[in-house]
Amino acid sequence: MKVLMVASEVEPFAKTGGLGDVLAALPKALAKTNVDVRVIMPLYRRIKEKYQNEIHHLGHIFVDLNWRHQYCGIFEYKANHVTYYFIDNEFYYGSDHLYDQMDLERFCFLSVSAFEILPFLQFTPDILHIHDWHTGVMAALFDDKYQHLSFYQNIKIVYTIHNLQYQGKFEVGHVRDMLPLSDKYYYGDPYIVNFMAMGIRYAHRVTTVSPSYMQEIQTPMFGEGLDDLLKEKKDHLIGILNGVDYDIYNPENDPLIFYKYNFESYKGIKKKNKEALLKLLNLPVKPEVPLIGMIGRLATQKGIDLVLSIMDQLCTNNMMFVLLGNGDLNFENALMYFQQKYPTRFKAILKFDNTLAHQIYAGSDLFLMPSQFEPCGLAQMICLKYGTIPIVHEVGGLKDTIHSYDEFTHKGNGFSFAGYNAHNFMYTIQRALQLYYNKNEFHRIIDNAMHCDYSWNSSALKYKKIYNELTKKSKEK
Ligand code: ADP
Repeated sequence: MKVLMVASEVEPFAKTGGLGDVLAALPKALAKTNVDVRVIMPLYRRIKEKYQNEIHHLGHIFVDLNWRHQYCGIFEYKANHVTYYFIDNEFYYGSDHLYDQMDLERFCFLSVSAFEILPFLQFTPDILHIHDWHTGVMAALFDDKYQHLSFYQNIKIVYTIHNLQYQGKFEVGHVRDMLPLSDKYYYGDPYIVNFMAMGIRYAHRVTTVSPSYMQEIQTPMFGEGLDDLLKEKKDHLIGILNGVDYDIYNPENDPLIFYKYNFESYKGIKKKNKEALLKLLNLPVKPEVPLIGMIGRLATQKGIDLVLSIMDQLCTNNMMFVLLGNGDLNFENALMYFQQKYPTRFKAILKFDNTLAHQIYAGSDLFLMPSQFEPCGLAQMICLKYGTIPIVHEVGGLKDTIHSYDEFTHKGNGFSFAGYNAHNFMYTIQRALQLYYNKNEFHRIIDNAMHCDYSWNSSALKYKKIYNELTKKSKEK
């Protein structure tokens, strides 16, 4: 089985969110099951600088995007039995940012180049697995052109929706100028082309990153305007929960946290992580006071508005709260305001900081994730491994992974609330804070949490099953 993945971000090379985490872990997990996995991504400038001694230059080709004839350098790096190829072009990927104003051009170039370099590499995959809007157009390019060329004709395409909110919508004129697609691919809206919709329409199988999200996006409330298309394609849809890469996120051997621990030693050691974190953040070092953490993009999706609306009420409680995130400037300003108002209770760190993220996972007692919608969510699953108890809105992947603690059966690995409103959210936080002081009960929840297994093993096998079904079909033809 030969699988080629193409994506805009892959850890440890480049990441802004969960997509990067998935592309780090899924190929590795598949490789362990004897799949030949290769991954293509852009050679962003910061990767080039950081990995300059490890990635090596294989050669170059020229790629045509209508009237453009562009240099396409090909670099290679191998690790964990996965081969990574990087597409180099200074004009497209020379900026400091993963995403910018030129996204249409940059990801069209990635999509066409990913097909064009395959003859150079002498590699024909059985499965082309593409991710999110950035590579969605590859499904249409395949349908229009590449499936008719013998080198590519047996390939089957799997398209994974990581977040339906970001669809890659562009003006028809601009897309026509970039891509040699036939007229029939410009249907529906006469002015806008939607790359996410192309992925859904032309892939052989479409996956979402949790079973609940798969159901939700077929409704107008969560469908982001594509619910009709998704309903039409529902026989091609399947929801597979993301996993966590426990090679990276495991308090037992995490080099980024202050003190390592596991489910036997957490009772003494987790508190030491909390003390060290409080000291680092210049908060009062009071380990007996519950510490709430939150990490995520400052986007409406993540429920920041709900957090802001309860800040005054929350900060009257005996607790401390640390939030790590960056994004929307309005949210950043509002968080700074509350930090000044409650300097001994609340700290906002408005940047992307991987080390601090690990330290917050290890040092916090509770963790907020009140997302409006959540395709899967990794942070809540990472928390479980670190014995940090998530408080989540019952939606998407949060609903599939966090089960509210029941004091009578002693089952459950977190706290959850239904109905996206500040009252329900605050009520659930109060409930968690109360239980925090009942040490026996709270340790039971931590035990339940730390024993959850959200590793990639079973999810990788589900993807492999889809790959097998598709390749079997193409061989039967
Ligand atoms: P999404 O993909 O929607 O951003 P997820 O919960 O699936 O959300 O994944 C977010 C990932 O990015 C997690 O690994 C989280 O720890 C990390 N992350 C998010 N914001 C930051 C930040 N400001 N600093 C460090 N890591 C972050």
